[in-house]
Amino acid sequence: MSTITAYGALAGDQPLKPLQITRRAPGPHDVQIAIAYCGICHSDLHQVRSEWAGTRYPCVPGHEIVGRVTAVGAHVSGFKEGDLVGVGCIVDSCQHCEECEEGYENYCDGMVPTYNGPTEDEPGHTLGGYAQQIVVHERYVLRIRHPESQLAAVAPLLCAGITTYSPLRHWRVGPGRKVGVVGIGGLGHMGIKLARAMGADVVAFTTSESKRDAATALGAHEVVVSRHPHEMATHRGSFDFILNTVAAPHQLDDYLVLLKRDGVLGLVGAPSSPHPSPNVFNLIMKRRSIAGSLIGGIPETQEMLDFCAEHGIVADIELIRAEQINEAYERMLQGKVKYRFVIDIATMGS
Ligand code: NAP
Ligand code: ZN
Repeated sequence: MSTITAYGALAGDQPLKPLQITRRAPGPHDVQIAIAYCGICHSDLHQVRSEWAGTRYPCVPGHEIVGRVTAVGAHVSGFKEGDLVGVGCIVDSCQHCEECEEGYENYCDGMVPTYNGPTEDEPGHTLGGYAQQIVVHERYVLRIRHPESQLAAVAPLLCAGITTYSPLRHWRVGPGRKVGVVGIGGLGHMGIKLARAMGADVVAFTTSESKRDAATALGAHEVVVSRHPHEMATHRGSFDFILNTVAAPHQLDDYLVLLKRDGVLGLVGAPSSPHPSPNVFNLIMKRRSIAGSLIGGIPETQEMLDFCAEHGIVADIELIRAEQINEAYERMLQGKVKYRFVIDIATMGS
């Protein structure tokens, strides 16, 4: 067992602060990782502030983890000391249900999230990647093939990357398909880059006039400021798929009417209170669907990392020191980050 420094909160209304936590000694199938960088996902904020049900404290968030292997258990065959690796949102699952056998650990009923999930380790729930080190079963460890110089910008791929890649693949985004990405935050900016690399015609939707030019630079063929009804109206009935990453409740009808026949509105944003009910006629009239998607399984996460390495894709990040985490949360709420904060774990001290 080792004692390390982490950043976490003791209650939903308290800021994050340095904490001493313990990690188990690596078991036979475990990989011990010295964490170099960890991205800040909006889910971290939802969870640590108890905006979703069931947060356990102390809460150490963080599921966009990259670093180097420092030790492996006796039965680990896929990794060795010194390897560059990542850990995303999943650190365990039942390993034998249909979902696990098909590589959909993300949909396993026994899936253990990287933080706030059940574990026999201290303190009885998982503690995430805002920490100097983590020990994870090898099945949930990902290989990083990007150059080491890009490591900090690879971190957000472990959640923002896979959460957008998986639905884009599932709904067959590619050449000849018109795709919308709603909300240009951590997830949305990855969605734009990935949909573009997959060959689709990409339209970005933002509430922020200030992101108009930046979204084009990310790869969007067109940018729509969703507050302007006349801009929205020009796209009525034209999309095959719209990926909605917005972290707050809003009117889904505004996007449903932009879908063509059989078009799908894929929701990945997870606001703490529900969206207003959509008008069912907007579904019936053109056989449209509303769907959801949760992160991605381990094989698909590796596929996404390899796709990004091959296409030179990383996140656009702002690297921060550990003591800036609380300030970063406030800026994320105001949409004032282009587009993902990443914590330099070396600043956590000893
Ligand atoms: P983020 O960086 O904060 O981005 C969210 C974006 O939504 C904002 O940048 C903003 O884009 C847009 N937005 C519009 N109105 C908003 C409002 N009132 N409040 C907040 N955002 C608003 O968040 P993220 O890390 O990308 O995460 C987005 C959501 O996905 C969160 O709810 C998160 O919990 C969820 N999530 C889900 C999964 C999954 O597996 N399904 C995985 C990870 C995260 P514009 O300025 O362009 O309008
Ligand atoms: Zn996340």
